[in-house]
Amino acid sequence: MTENSDLDSLVTKMKSATAPIRQTLQGLHQKYLPLDAGEVAHYIPELASADPNAFAIALAGVDGQIVDVGDSEHLFSIQSVSKPFVYGLALDTHGRDLVLSKVNVEPSGEAFNSIVLDEATNRPFNPFVNSGAIATTDLVPGADYTARVKSLLRLFANYAGRPVFVDNATFISERSTGHRNRAIAHLMLNFGMIQDRVDETLELYFQQCAILVNCRDLAVMAATLANGGVNPVTGVRAIEAKHVRDLLSLMFSCGMYDYAGSWGYLVGLPAKSSVSGAIMAVVPGQFGIAVFSPPLDERGNSVRGIAVCTELSERFGLHAFDAHSTGPTLADEFRPTRR
Ligand code: GLN
Repeated sequence: MTENSDLDSLVTKMKSATAPIRQTLQGLHQKYLPLDAGEVAHYIPELASADPNAFAIALAGVDGQIVDVGDSEHLFSIQSVSKPFVYGLALDTHGRDLVLSKVNVEPSGEAFNSIVLDEATNRPFNPFVNSGAIATTDLVPGADYTARVKSLLRLFANYAGRPVFVDNATFISERSTGHRNRAIAHLMLNFGMIQDRVDETLELYFQQCAILVNCRDLAVMAATLANGGVNPVTGVRAIEAKHVRDLLSLMFSCGMYDYAGSWGYLVGLPAKSSVSGAIMAVVPGQFGIAVFSPPLDERGNSVRGIAVCTELSERFGLHAFDAHSTGPTLADEFRPTRR
């Protein structure tokens, strides 16, 4: 490229409709980069080597436009952000009734890795605690292990709009240390909540968590949910339209560990976070948001991720229950004496 054409393309970029939003994201990136609170996860040994300074923000619109800043191509293991997508696959494959009979849809109030099942039905509380996620992974279709791995890779490729791969180091790291998840799976087998192929299903769960994505991918995946299940970049459907609502409802009530209540109150968007430092949020009908920054707060959410999403929601009125009204509100109508 000549210098001139570089300049031309820069000018085109600056003139494009995405320029103001790019500046906004750059501003947020600059503002929160010095925020060095939190610690990277280390209970999965491989995660301890994450770069605490890696930081990316990406937005993808339902029209397929992507705006990203920072280390948006930096790859990381998807971890718990995989859980909503696999839940969607279970719904598409088996239907709501069967899936509901295996995994409940209630916030748990327990840590994501708790070894607790609902006493009355023996179901995990929801598909985003590890027990519920493992029970969901048990429902991944395929005649054997290889076919089931392929189902998962196809699913994530459809959402990301590109082929995805498993990070072997993370997979092995979690497989050799994931005793708690093994205990959870065996407890569920004891209650007949998962099939008698525990080792295979755990392997599959560890594979799913070790799939590599970058922040840009996650924004596209979130935008696919915002777009009713069709990837806005490729036009490929990743999930039946009727199941998208189920995912988003659960992401709203259970997506952010023990911060889900405060998140719903302050940010007001369906979202999912992971111990690798990713947060993915969905503005239905509009766009997907992704933030990646490995240091986590005491609840296991990315510190910079929470800060960026909170500010985006406040500045742009993204809260699901924000009426976007500039005129007098209904509340004003009820307080005539205050006028
Ligand atoms: N693979 C991780 C685990 O099972 C996922 C947890 C997470 O991201 N919260 O512990």
